[in-house]
Order: sequence, then C-alpha cells, then structure tokens
Amino acid sequence: MARMETSSIIAARDRLGVRPGLLYIDGAWLDGGEGRYDQIHPAINEVVTSFIEAGRSGVDAAVAAARRAFDAGPWPHMAARERKRILQPIVEAIYAAEDEIAELQTLDNGMPITFSKGGRVSGRVAADMFDHYAGWIDKITGETFPQYTGTTNLHYLTFREPIGVVAAITPWNGPVLTFAMKVAPALACGNTIVLKPSELAGLAIAKLADILARSDLPPGVFNLVTGGPATGEALSTHPGVDKVSFTGSPLVGEKIMSTAGSNMKRLTLELGGKSAALVFPDTRDVRVAARNLMGLCSTFLSGQVCSTPTRALVHRSILDEFVHHAAEQVREVRLGDPFDPATTSAPIISKRQLERVLGYIDIGRWEGARLVFGGDRPGGDLADGNWVNPALFVDVDNNMRIAREEIFGPVLCVIPFEEEADAIRIANDSDYGLSGGIYTTDLTRAFRVAKAMRTGSVGVNGYSVMPNSPAGGIKRSGLGREGGWATIEEFTEVKTVMLNLDA
Ligand code: NAD
Repeated sequence: MARMETSSIIAARDRLGVRPGLLYIDGAWLDGGEGRYDQIHPAINEVVTSFIEAGRSGVDAAVAAARRAFDAGPWPHMAARERKRILQPIVEAIYAAEDEIAELQTLDNGMPITFSKGGRVSGRVAADMFDHYAGWIDKITGETFPQYTGTTNLHYLTFREPIGVVAAITPWNGPVLTFAMKVAPALACGNTIVLKPSELAGLAIAKLADILARSDLPPGVFNLVTGGPATGEALSTHPGVDKVSFTGSPLVGEKIMSTAGSNMKRLTLELGGKSAALVFPDTRDVRVAARNLMGLCSTFLSGQVCSTPTRALVHRSILDEFVHHAAEQVREVRLGDPFDPATTSAPIISKRQLERVLGYIDIGRWEGARLVFGGDRPGGDLADGNWVNPALFVDVDNNMRIAREEIFGPVLCVIPFEEEADAIRIANDSDYGLSGGIYTTDLTRAFRVAKAMRTGSVGVNGYSVMPNSPAGGIKRSGLGREGGWATIEEFTEVKTVMLNLDA
C-alpha cells in the first residue's frame, strides 16, 4: 500500500495554481450564477476548490450566447479551410499542456497519475481527438443521386449541415476524454456548444476550456457552465438547445430522453453497462485473460469505467485457474497517493458511491454468491478516503442483482458456463449492451460470437477506444455512436436540395 499523504494532493493544487472556478460565456470568464459548491478529493475527502452553480440564469446566458453565435455568427458558414485553421492550433495547445491536464485530472477524481498521463483518457488522447476531427472538416460531404425517372429535369443532392446549439454534459470519470469526444466533432461540424462537466470533476475541463478561450474561436461558439443536476436539467431541457450529447448514468440518460421531446432535440446518449467477457478454454493463456479482466476492475479507475466487463463468463474447465490468476493480479494492486507513480488504482468517487459499492458487496453475499477476496475497506493511512479493496465474486448466477446492475466499483463477478451457446445467452441476458469481450484463439468462434453479442462493440483478446472508430451502446447503454465518421453523422443534419434545370 502506497502511503497516503493529504499534503501531496493539497501540494498539487497549490503547484498547479488552482483557483475557484468561473463560467465561460460569450468569450469571457464570468462570476455569477446561483451560488458555489465545493469539489472534494475522493482520496482524502478534503476540499480542493469551489465552482459556480450556474443554475437557470447561467444556463440562459450561455445558451443565448451559443444561439447568437450560431444564428448570426460566422462559425456555421465558415469555409472549411478557415475553420480548420482555428482548430489546428487547439490540437497543439492541448499536446503542449498534456502534463498539466493529467495532473488536473488526477486532482479531479483520484485517477492514478500514470493512467492520467499515459492512458486512454489522457490529454494526449484528447489532442488526438481534436486532430482527428480537425481533419474531417474539409471531408464532410453529401451525396448526389442518379435520376429516378426521366420525366423531369430535377437533380438531387445532399449537404451535411450543423445541427445548431449543442448541450454537452459529461461525467466525472473520464472528463478529458469525454470533453474531447463531444467538443471536437461538434465544433468541426460547425455547431456551437454549451458544455457542463460533472460537479465532481471540473478542473481538467476548466483547463481545456481555457485553451479554447485563448484560441481564435469566435465568442459564443464554446461556452462552459458548471453545476450539478439542477444546472444539467436546465441545460438539457432548454428550448434554445437543438441537440443534447450526454455521457453519464442510464437513469439520467432516460430522464433526458423523456424531456427532450418538447422541441424534438437530437440526442446522443452514452450510458452505463454491465458488459460480459467470455473466456473460452481455447484462450491462448488463461493467466492473461484473468489478469486483464481482474485488472480492469482493480486498477486504473477501480472499475468505474462504463465499458469495463464486470461479468466474466468463464468456461467451467478453466474456472479454478482463472480465479487463481485473478487473485495473483490483485496482489499487485497499490492503493494510495494518486500522484505516486507506484499507485495503481483510484478511490471511489464519492462517499455516496462508496456506500453503494459496499451495499452491493452485502447484496452479493446475501444472494448466495461467494466472495473470494476483497470488498472490505483498507484502514490506516487510507481510512479517510473512499477506498475499497478489489473484490471477486464466484458462483454468481446471472439473475442476481450483482450480475444485472451497474455497481461502478472494483467488483468482478465470475459466472461459469459449459457451452458456447449458453455463454452467448447469458451475455445477452442483460438490460445493457455497451461492450463485450471474447478470449479465444479460434478465429471462426471469435467472429461467430462477436456477431451474436448484442452490444455496441466487442473486443476479441483486447479492447480500446480510438478516435477514428465508433463506440456506443444499445438497450439501456444508450443511443448513437461516438468516434470517426459516426460522430459526424451525430452532429449534422442532412439537407436535400432539388435543382430543376428546366426552369
Ligand atoms: P451521472 O449521470 O450522475 O452524471 C453525469 C452528468 O449528468 C453530470 O454532469 C451531472 O451533473 C449531470 N446530471 C445529473 N442529473 C442531471 C439531470 N437531471 N439532467 C441533466 N444532467 C444531469 O453520471 P456520473 O456518475 O458522472 O458517471 C458515471 C456514469 O456514466 C456510469 O453510469 C457510467 O457507466 C457512465 N459513463 C458512460 C460512458 C459511455 O461512453 N457510455 C462513459 C463514461 C461514463
């Protein structure tokens, strides 16, 4: 266990010059809104800084600015070359600030610094995302169609046009990545934006907003409001908003979907999951599969990642070997100071979520699953933070609540299977459909099972989201896709122009 020093987090705050947060509206940093709230660090439960609760008044001002910038501004109509020339320096500015962004992200949510710097949610990946979408700007094309009948001289062509004002609402767990996944494509397509980060993690996003504030984006094209659920609701229901792009919990996603209809807002919803990874006896190495799956739950954000496979469906013949290697992996977990490069795992984000995770450990035991290890809280230096030792349940039945509900903590549930068809049936017997995993060396099986899994994406012997490939969910895991051309479609409307050449 790495020693937990409160002073390391407070020192990082001071070193990084963190100041109380402001709103960024119509090209200016502003005070105001409807009061302030504290951001607490989950590793020590001490206040890091405060942010403004924008509330309805702050949201009204930000949406009005974004509306003006869209309806009257140059941004939606700018030539591709000009829009590109404004986004490209933002790419370089994010690359240049990647270390600071990483430290701020660790100060936000306790993500171990090695992951925040080098992982798939780093500032570098955010810069890659901006680079990828800046590259699309001059390639967003429409279509032309052959004439359907010869009776008219009408010709049909389509354009992809920006949707309008986008409300982007992001979660606490990957603030840097989710910011880039929404802002970069929305801007590339010519939309204007009001972004609201999670009230639990606003620092890294404030830095990214500052980079945009220093760019040549016209005023009102990008706006930042901070706040909790009330501010989120004011934004997602605002009549001046044309599209909501939301990443967060299914409960909030469903609420947004039910209130978005009043002016037919477009929606992208990236929600939770209860993903399954299927480990077949022909996997190249049971040790690798067990370490990967246990590692996804026990290191990095300690299972607080939407796509984490939290149900390991393991063939009965390799079950004992799997559990043995999972236990070995957990011995390498180091909880503690998130700024220590030796630390492997994050605390649970809040006291409330900590209680939820501990509650699920009790539920699992009560339902009859066997807790092989973990699920308790470390004491000593870590007693003040929201820490939980990674847990492994075996003898799990897919009908148990621990197999059906998103726990969002360091808990892996192992479910045995005998036949491939059973594994597919169990994997698909879920309210969610975000991601899936398959461990096998049989290419035919890999293809067959990947096609049969009812999820938005599937990883065969590995999984990672990239800027140029789509990801997203089906069922309760969401609506729409983010990544590559799929996002361009999410942030544009198709307009058909009919041209009569006989007139
Ligand atoms: P959350 O739903 O509690 O909060 C997400 C955002 O919604 C925050 O900014 C919050 O302030 C805001 N919000 C809360 N109530 C709102 C309301 N009524 N109207 C509008 N906005 C509101 O989620 P969280 O705890 O920040 O994040 C964890 C969840 O996000 C998990 O379920 C996880 O699976 C999911 N997630 C999904 C993806 C994905 O790509 N599919 C990625 C990361 C996280």
